[in-house]
Amino acid sequence: ILTATGIRKSFGDRDVLKGVDVTLGAHEVVALIGASGSGKSTLLRCLGLLEPIDDGQIFLGDEDISDPRVDGNRVRARLGAVFQSFNLFPHLSVLDNVTLASRVVHRMPRRDAEARAAELLARVGLADKAKDHPDRLSGGQQQRVAIARAIATDPEVLLLDEITSALDPELVGEVLELVRDLASEGATILMATHEMAFARDVADRVVFLDAGTIVEQGPPSSVLRHPQEARTRAFLARFT
Ligand code: ATP
Ligand code: MG
Repeated sequence: ILTATGIRKSFGDRDVLKGVDVTLGAHEVVALIGASGSGKSTLLRCLGLLEPIDDGQIFLGDEDISDPRVDGNRVRARLGAVFQSFNLFPHLSVLDNVTLASRVVHRMPRRDAEARAAELLARVGLADKAKDHPDRLSGGQQQRVAIARAIATDPEVLLLDEITSALDPELVGEVLELVRDLASEGATILMATHEMAFARDVADRVVFLDAGTIVEQGPPSSVLRHPQEARTRAFLARFT
């Protein structure tokens, strides 16, 4: 459903992505791993059209979304993104955070958007928080709202960037559990993560990025347990 080839991205004279090829099949869950600074967030931002690429091509379905003539807003409306810092709108209630894109971008009538948001909040275990402002919620609850917001518009692909790394350890589980549920329901997910156990349990495929290059990829059972490349082994050694 998502196919990127030859993605290059530099900031000034720093080559952050050096020709990355990555694909994501429908209903596939892919974990993107790699050291800090290896380019994971940059890759997710490029794929989500939140950052222009210097070279390469990105197809979403059969549309070349890297074509400079495409309407970025229309494409971004087909994707759901969640980041490390929850990025909820602080001045809006939880309910309004979740309904905003449906109402404004997808022009869904308020009543329909709110009915759908109520369903989603119930499903992320926050039905009783709809009227609250985000600052009244714990980090884990805020991140679950951010996920509800991202899936409210039925995105074709979810891009998740270290969504648990800003959370207190005791709150990580509730957010990962939600991602696990979405995965089992058939969501298509590309997630940058440092949670190796989660990658091993939930991902269909693990992609190891090192210094802007994909060094190794495959099922978790091979990449995480029997890495073929010295760089992958060196990276994984830090987690044992
Ligand atoms: P982490 O695990 O710490 O989140 P990462 O793999 O997500 O790391 P990126 O955030 O993609 O890494 O950053 C890759 C490199 O690109 C880093 O050296 C970073 O400093 C640089 N970089 C990222 N965004 C920008 C920017 N907007 N301007 C300049 N340099 C940037
Ligand atoms: Mg990052």
